[in-house]
Amino acid sequence: MPARTGAEFLRGLKAPREVWVEGERVSDVTTHPAFSGAAHALAEVFDLQHQAADVCLMPDPETGEPINVSHMLPHSKADLKKRHKGLERISEYSMGLMGRTPDYMNVTYAGFAARADEWSTHSNEEGGENLVKYQKFLRRHDISLTHTIVHPTINRANGDVPKIGNTTALHKVENTSHGILVRGSRVLATLAPFADEIAVYPNPIPLQPGTESHAICFNIPMNTPGLKFLCRDSFSRQGNKFDFPLSSRFDEQDAFVIFDDVEVPRDRIFIDGNLTVYNSVMQRSWWPNIMQQTMIRAQTKLEFAWGLVTRMAETINSSAAHVQMMMGEIWCFAEFARAGIHSAEQGAFEYGNGAWFPDERPLAALRAMLPVWFPRVNEIIRLISAHNPFTAPSAAQFADPKLRPLIDDYLYGAGDVSAEQRARLFRLAWDFAGSALASRNEQYERFYLGSSGRSLQATQMFAPRDRAYRLVDRFLREEF
Ligand SMILES: Cc1cc2nc3c(=O)[nH]c(=O)nc-3n(C[C@H](O)[C@H](O)[C@H](O)COP(=O)(O)OP(=O)(O)OC[C@H]3O[C@@H](n4cnc5c(N)ncnc54)[C@H](O)[C@@H]3O)c2cc1C
Repeated sequence: MPARTGAEFLRGLKAPREVWVEGERVSDVTTHPAFSGAAHALAEVFDLQHQAADVCLMPDPETGEPINVSHMLPHSKADLKKRHKGLERISEYSMGLMGRTPDYMNVTYAGFAARADEWSTHSNEEGGENLVKYQKFLRRHDISLTHTIVHPTINRANGDVPKIGNTTALHKVENTSHGILVRGSRVLATLAPFADEIAVYPNPIPLQPGTESHAICFNIPMNTPGLKFLCRDSFSRQGNKFDFPLSSRFDEQDAFVIFDDVEVPRDRIFIDGNLTVYNSVMQRSWWPNIMQQTMIRAQTKLEFAWGLVTRMAETINSSAAHVQMMMGEIWCFAEFARAGIHSAEQGAFEYGNGAWFPDERPLAALRAMLPVWFPRVNEIIRLISAHNPFTAPSAAQFADPKLRPLIDDYLYGAGDVSAEQRARLFRLAWDFAGSALASRNEQYERFYLGSSGRSLQATQMFAPRDRAYRLVDRFLREEF
């Protein structure tokens, strides 16, 4: 089956799965009020790839069937530029609010398959072959993947990775006649209710010798017996898109995953206790590859925020210097993101095995700063919007024949902005920066691939120092 339509995607979601939300086991995520908005939004993302086929689709290199461009194994700078256009188009659908649209995992697995040499090493040839076969399956069936790479945080004093004997974190229990039996838990599977399969792959923080049972990597269908997903409370607001323009459709959900004795078939295992491979596959090319997708999404979101504050200032004719300065901050963030991605793509090179990925330096710098910038963006939107989101009548109030003329008289905007346009804008601003979903999205930006603190630390630890040392050392070597 080549690139799927939205209807095909929704049909796939009806397969049984153990998804819980607020005390209820959900039988159909496509109709449940907590999930139906996002399920149908994601269906529109699947339809979008056909509507924008020129940038979103490409022929499968072996079958020639149309597949999403996010499945591409990049072999040149031109490939990365082509992929950029498709990723950008997808990110525009949710203005970057859905961080884990399926292209995120498509890019991840394309990167893994492109560096199959890193997986098929140190006696892990079977795992590497399984991974390459899986990536073909993923792209040809246009599978929606959720993923979990983080071990549960029980006692921080015990460190970031499970110690010998830890039975809380996901681990292998035993071999079975068909594969392996696994047990334990992991965080945090964003998109879980809207996925066909779950991917379990390594956290970049290395495991210690003796914890080989935790060194497992595999992908299995969501309906595999024993898999349980505990979703966080829903921030989806049902109702019309006027009242809740974003939270009516973009709550992508996040779930804690319990593997309650789950059997993983042999052909779905990519790493089975091989600590050397587990600790190395995430170290080199995964980061620059996935950062292209996620920074394009971030840039889209920043440009949306820039558009939002600009429209807000126009609507209330706010040209004060302090407002313009704050608007300038958001424009700078968006421009730094655009420039960083451009620089990374221009500096792309072959990482090995014929696989091309962007220069990771500007992307790593962006990743470290965006968790600081995004909360500031929300703060600026709230500062500029002041009380206005709370004087934005609902669709039902607009529909009331007695209220409507009064709203039109008392709540219009500057220039020729109507009351309805003004309400639409400030409702959008609140849904972006102040609603329950906005708060979750801010948390996402802070933590979705490790915290800013860790990123800042890692970024400078691994940065090349040659030129910086040369500039300083000249003074350290001078004669008295
Ligand atoms: C909304 C959301 C969605 C997510 N989706 C997914 C998903 O789909 N799949 C998945 O696998 N995971 C997902 N995650 C999990 C995410 O990967 C982890 O939450 C993330 O790695 C941070 O978790 P942590 O407990 O290790 O935090 P830490 O990195 O330990 O941070 C906790 C606090 O300690 C500080 N800190 C920790 N270490 C340092 C340090 N060395 N230097 C300075 N400060 C430090 C941080 O700044 C932060 O304030 C998601 C998380 C969120 C919030």
